[in-house]
Amino acid sequence: MNEIRPIPASGTTPALVDPFGRHISYLRVSVTDRCDFRCVYCMSEHMTFLPKPDLLTLEELDRLCSAFVSRGVEKLRITGGEPLVRRDILTLFRSLSRHLDSGALKELTLTTNGSQLTRFAKELSSYGVKRINVSLDTLDPIKFKALTRWGDLTKVLAGIDAAQEAGMQIKINAVALRGDNEDEIPALMEWAHGRGMDLALIEVMPLGDVGAERVDQYLPLSLVRAKLSERYTLDDIDYRTGGPARYVSVKETGGRLGFITPLTHNFCEGCNRVRLTCTGTLYMCLGQEDAADLRAPLRAAASNDLLNAAMDEAISRKPRGHDFVIDRRTRQPALGRHMSHTGG
Ligand code: SAM
Repeated sequence: MNEIRPIPASGTTPALVDPFGRHISYLRVSVTDRCDFRCVYCMSEHMTFLPKPDLLTLEELDRLCSAFVSRGVEKLRITGGEPLVRRDILTLFRSLSRHLDSGALKELTLTTNGSQLTRFAKELSSYGVKRINVSLDTLDPIKFKALTRWGDLTKVLAGIDAAQEAGMQIKINAVALRGDNEDEIPALMEWAHGRGMDLALIEVMPLGDVGAERVDQYLPLSLVRAKLSERYTLDDIDYRTGGPARYVSVKETGGRLGFITPLTHNFCEGCNRVRLTCTGTLYMCLGQEDAADLRAPLRAAASNDLLNAAMDEAISRKPRGHDFVIDRRTRQPALGRHMSHTGG
C-alpha cells in the first residue's frame, strides 16, 4: 500500500463560520465520481466520468481534509461515487485517523453501497471508523438488481455482516421510492432494527438527469410516516448524528428511524456541512450551483495560506439553504450535477 506523508499543521487558524452564524463542523468528501452501481435515481445508465488525471491525489485530499480539520471540522464523511472503489483509498483513512488520535477530529466515517465491505471492513475499523452508513433500498434481490442496475444484494449483505463483525455500528440509508420500495419500508425497518441498525429514509432529490421523471420516483416522507404510524408507535427523539436526519424511536421494534426530508421539511437552518468533490471543488450547499475551486490554491503553494483564504471566501458565500421542487410542472432537475458528483 502507498504511504501518504502528512503535511504538518501550521499554527492555529480561526473556525469557519458562515454569514448566518453557522459553524462549519462537518465536511463530506467525494473521493471519486465513479461507482460500481448505477442506481436509477442517482445516475443514468451511461455516465461520463471525470478523466482520472483531473482527480486530486490521495495526498492532496489528505491535505485538504486536514486544512478543514485545522479550521474546526470535527466530522469527516468519505463518500462518492462509491468511495471504496477508489484505488488505495484505505491509505487516506489511515492517514486521516491521526486526527482522531490527536482529538481534533471526533468522527471519521463513510457512506458506502456496501459492495466492498467484506474486503475492507476490518481495516477501516482499525483506522477508527466506528459508524458507517450503508445505502440499501430493498431486501428483494430482483428489485435490488432493478434499482441498482449492476448491484448484487448477496455481496452487500455479506458486507454488512463483515462490518458488524468488525464492530462497526451501521445506519442503513434507504431512498423512499414511489412504487418501488414503498410497501417494503416496514419490512426493511424491522430487518434493520432486528440487527441493531438504525434506518434512515431519504426523499429523492432532483439532482442530475437520470433519464426518468423525478415525480414518478418521489415519495414524500410525510406520507410514509403517516402510514407507518398506523402500525407502529413513533415517538420523536432528540437523537442527532450531526447530519440532517430527524429521528423517532419505534416502540414495537425498539429501534431508531430517521427521516431526511429535503423536500417536505427543509432542514437548512441548522446546516453545518460543506461538500468537497474529488477535483477539489467545494459546494457550500448540496442544492445550489455556487461552488469554489480549492484545487488551484492547494496546488499553488506548499503552505496553506492561499487555501485558507479561499476557504474563508467560499464559506462567506454559503447560502441560507436550498429550494428543491418536484412536481409535474417542473420537469428539469434542480441541478445539472448528479449526487455521485457532489457526494451523498
Ligand atoms: N456509493 C455510496 C452509497 O451508495 O452510499 C455513496 C454515494 S451515494 C451518492 C450516497 C447516497 O446518496 C446514497 O444513499 C444514495 O441512495 C443517495 N442518493 C443518490 N442520488 C440521490 C437522489 N437523487 N436523491 C436522494 N438521495 C440520493
